[in-house]
Amino acid sequence: MSKIAINLVTGGIQQQETIVGIDLGTTNSLVAIVREDTRQPIALREIDGLALVPSIVNFDEFNNPQVGTTAKEKLVSSPERTIYSVKRLMGKSYMDVSDHANVYAYHIIDDDTDSLVKIEVNGKYYTPIELSAEVLKELKKRAEHILKTPVNKAVITVPAYFNDAQRQATRDAGKLAGLDVLRILNEPTAASLAYGIGTQMDQDKTIVVYDLGGGTFDVSILKISNGIFEVLATHGDTYLGGDDFDRAIVSYWTEANPNAWDLSDKNVKAVLRLMAEDAKKHLSQQDSFTGTFYGCTLTLTKEKLNELLQPLINNTLDSCQQALKDAGLTPQDLDAVIMVGGSTRVPAVKQSIQAFFGKEVFDKLNPDEVVALGAAVQADILAGKNTDMLLLDVTPLSLGIETMGGLMDVLIPRNSKIPTKVGRQYTTHKDGQSGMRITVYQGERDLVKDNRKLASFNLSGIPAMPAGLPKVEISFLIDADGILKVSAQELRSGVTQSIEVKPQYGLTDEEVEQMLMASIVHAKDDIQARALAEATTEAIQMMETTEKFLNKHQAFLTETEIAETKVLMQQLQQAVDDKDKDLIQKQTEQLNELSRPYAERVMDAALKDAMRGKKVL
Ligand code: ADP
Ligand code: MG
Repeated sequence: MSKIAINLVTGGIQQQETIVGIDLGTTNSLVAIVREDTRQPIALREIDGLALVPSIVNFDEFNNPQVGTTAKEKLVSSPERTIYSVKRLMGKSYMDVSDHANVYAYHIIDDDTDSLVKIEVNGKYYTPIELSAEVLKELKKRAEHILKTPVNKAVITVPAYFNDAQRQATRDAGKLAGLDVLRILNEPTAASLAYGIGTQMDQDKTIVVYDLGGGTFDVSILKISNGIFEVLATHGDTYLGGDDFDRAIVSYWTEANPNAWDLSDKNVKAVLRLMAEDAKKHLSQQDSFTGTFYGCTLTLTKEKLNELLQPLINNTLDSCQQALKDAGLTPQDLDAVIMVGGSTRVPAVKQSIQAFFGKEVFDKLNPDEVVALGAAVQADILAGKNTDMLLLDVTPLSLGIETMGGLMDVLIPRNSKIPTKVGRQYTTHKDGQSGMRITVYQGERDLVKDNRKLASFNLSGIPAMPAGLPKVEISFLIDADGILKVSAQELRSGVTQSIEVKPQYGLTDEEVEQMLMASIVHAKDDIQARALAEATTEAIQMMETTEKFLNKHQAFLTETEIAETKVLMQQLQQAVDDKDKDLIQKQTEQLNELSRPYAERVMDAALKDAMRGKKVL
């Protein structure tokens, strides 16, 4: 029984709010809720019984969008106006996707820059966020139609490997579709929740989630204890999935029927692909398939299909092996294996995975619905209808800011559990400095120039104080969605400034891996570079102090002493210009040795003055 609330001001009836769970997939998307009566998650189905909505947007000649099955039908007739797989483009720049840009039948704008990609249809430009928002609007409309109530709040899932930019883009798409996105949830975590793993506080389990969808594959190892989910490792291939199975079938048929059709014709190719997909799905139940195309009889047996797919399946097993290695585990350490994604309906996939892990395989729930079901469970938890839980993930790369000499100062080290909050104090290095530039970087290298710049902002309005006196507290907060907020506050005056980091473009798994590799390869160079930067900073400070001293206290020094000091300063400057670390250190030390007695002389004089002015009792 659901509760009904009456608004005392308007007299209107307010139904208890529904928060839906949404799987915004590369190939298919769907909405699920937890039923009030049974307390079980269910996928929302239209009268036709279908829950899956193809994540495809077609624009007609007036740029009116259509989403789902009707859009999928246009893949053949108007490929350049039919946008699929937009999830791959979320939070990416053209440079990120250029290697694969030609596989899309629609037009991705090549601006050869780091800015976010756009897609052109009929001379209009769309961002992946806008296109995903179209899919989400359709899902919202469906849910409202089926539930007969407004739907304004949602939990949306993303792959575990999605970075800040991709998560933020997904959140923005939700907002654009009129949804308040209460949580961005990792897909493997959702799958686990759907099976009730992690919904009770006393569960302690390590599981593998194997997700083979239409165009992407990923495997995640999760550790669940006290209702906390931790991603121990994730691996995969963002260009491997059921589409590749279809392509393998198309190649097989084309080889068996040479010259029977022209594959360079996009329509021929598209129709043949759809037929291959039909054959594949048919063979998940039956032993053989027969169809006709351009007067040819096309056949495929289950045995032949397995043979075609084995190399692709083996690739996924390699990823599983790698994920286990990264997590430092063996199959014996695992409690269960969860099957996710439509392609795990292929019997050969299921068998290979079962054999590889030798564990109980969870496949009772529909693999293409399980993520949405879990999102619904999370939505139910957030609605306060279930025990509250914290979902934990880790940061893939270190986060920090640039400090003097272009050095990276890490605030949140890589592999930190999120949500997390870290603060550290910094100060100014110039007298009367009124502003401070805070630049945020991601990466493992010692010099910021080798890392990835995420954002930058100014803390201004610091009251005039001598160098070193202001206390600027910089804090990094990563929320449960993996979005970073950076704030800076000068503690003496209370001046504050903060930003939410929306990086320009995302990093792929491979890029993260490359950055980690680079940090290992360059470790020695980096140590040297850091030492040089530190020595240089110290030398520059030394020279600035000496310069100031000479200007102010010239009267205390002889001509020779002034000349000597200037020579040492020039030599130090030369060493800095030559980037000779050892020489910089030596010269800094010499300048220090020479000028220390002068400073003492000035102090003594000041002290004598002070004594003279006062009567000693
Ligand atoms: P995504 O997570 O990428 O949105 P899904 O989990 O919905 O994708 O999986 C879509 C893929 O599953 C497609 O390649 C589709 O052909 C495949 N698929 C769906 N049903 C079956 C089936 N019965 N047998 C084999 N493959 C299937
Ligand atoms: Mg999926």
